[in-house]
Amino acid sequence: MNLKPLPFSREQIERIMKTHATPFHIYDEQAIRGNARKFYKAFSWVPGGFKNYFAVKALPNPAIMKLLKEEGMGTDCSSLPELMLSERAGITGEDIMFTSNDTPAAEFVKAKELEAVINLDDLSHLAFLESQVTLPDLICFRYNPGKLKSGNDIIGSPEEAKYGLTREQLFEGYKLAKEKGVTRFGLHTMVASNELNPDYFVETANLLFQFAVELNKKLGIKIEFVNLGGGIGIPYRPDHKPVDLDYVSKGIKDSYERIIKPYDLDPVRIFMECGRMVTGPYGYLVAKVLHIKQTYRKYVGLDACMANLMRPAIYGAYHHITVLGKENEPHTFYCDVTGSLCENNDKFAINRPLPQVEEGDIVVIHDTGAHGWAMGFNYNGKLRSAELLLGADGAVQLIRRAETTEDYFATLEF
Ligand SMILES: *Cc1c(COP(=O)(O)O)cnc(C)c1O
Repeated sequence: MNLKPLPFSREQIERIMKTHATPFHIYDEQAIRGNARKFYKAFSWVPGGFKNYFAVKALPNPAIMKLLKEEGMGTDCSSLPELMLSERAGITGEDIMFTSNDTPAAEFVKAKELEAVINLDDLSHLAFLESQVTLPDLICFRYNPGKLKSGNDIIGSPEEAKYGLTREQLFEGYKLAKEKGVTRFGLHTMVASNELNPDYFVETANLLFQFAVELNKKLGIKIEFVNLGGGIGIPYRPDHKPVDLDYVSKGIKDSYERIIKPYDLDPVRIFMECGRMVTGPYGYLVAKVLHIKQTYRKYVGLDACMANLMRPAIYGAYHHITVLGKENEPHTFYCDVTGSLCENNDKFAINRPLPQVEEGDIVVIHDTGAHGWAMGFNYNGKLRSAELLLGADGAVQLIRRAETTEDYFATLEF
């Protein structure tokens, strides 16, 4: 019955709860590192080098960012605080990819100061960057392939997406950048989110490789890296399979050899900006059952709410739930698992078959390592939880304390 295994036992969590009140998110360091190594190993063939820029928005915690830096990753930022977080985590220079949109001047100033790779979302941003900051030697543009690529559910059809430049604008953008003295160029796109079909990423690489060749032929510029963006999905449901990274890598390698090699563009570095698949499966929201309520349905009320994990409420997203110590009992107790917000969509699960749940049970919500804590908010006076790191040695480290009412009041004038 235990469809999704956990890296800790009930006894271990009970011990942790003696010093850390629920709810909290806990991240599994060993699993994060193991996955990062597998990811890098799959792409070790890339001639100029492979790099994943961890999308900070997925899990904006310096302890995690430092750990990922040790595994060879950089950060993908899209706001001033994310740039500052990277800097304070010791990540600077071209280890930062600044992929923003609708960008305020101050953010370009900071990105340039950090010597981050600046990835422009619009043609007009070239002149904006030049007038507000000055142009760097290296410029990347974000491509929106429009009709050339079908979108997926979360990110939608590229033609309706606010991101990126059209093909025609890209030719103009690179030409203009070159005329203005830019000497180094990158090419980016991101057209999927939480995508489990591995072919999708191979197609994206294909598209960018072909475009790199075209840019070389028409403008004489050499694209030094293609950035395939993020969007690799994770198996939220027990019957989902993780994306086979070796398959993706092999597909991209074939495409590289077919498209890049014959045109003498080799080496072109390959970058990604994955967030979700890097930390998502390795985080867990641990909460306690406060109340069991039976009206027209059964309700299991937790001490966590959608302020701690918003995905089920906003996307109807599935997050697997384990009741600790009851993994092997029959799952015949159909219930809605709720939080305490005065919003009826504050539910972690609807009509979910669980084992017989009682007050005081410890509930683990799976796959909260990306876009979990990060999407938190304070509506209804709800406070954001602590974050813990379960170390490779089994020791637990507090990497963010829980908010207090004083934090909540800190911006107010009484
Ligand atoms: C959100 C985002 C990512 C990361 O997406 P994941 O689904 O977490 O892999 C990468 N790049 C950009 C520009 C993003 O907006």
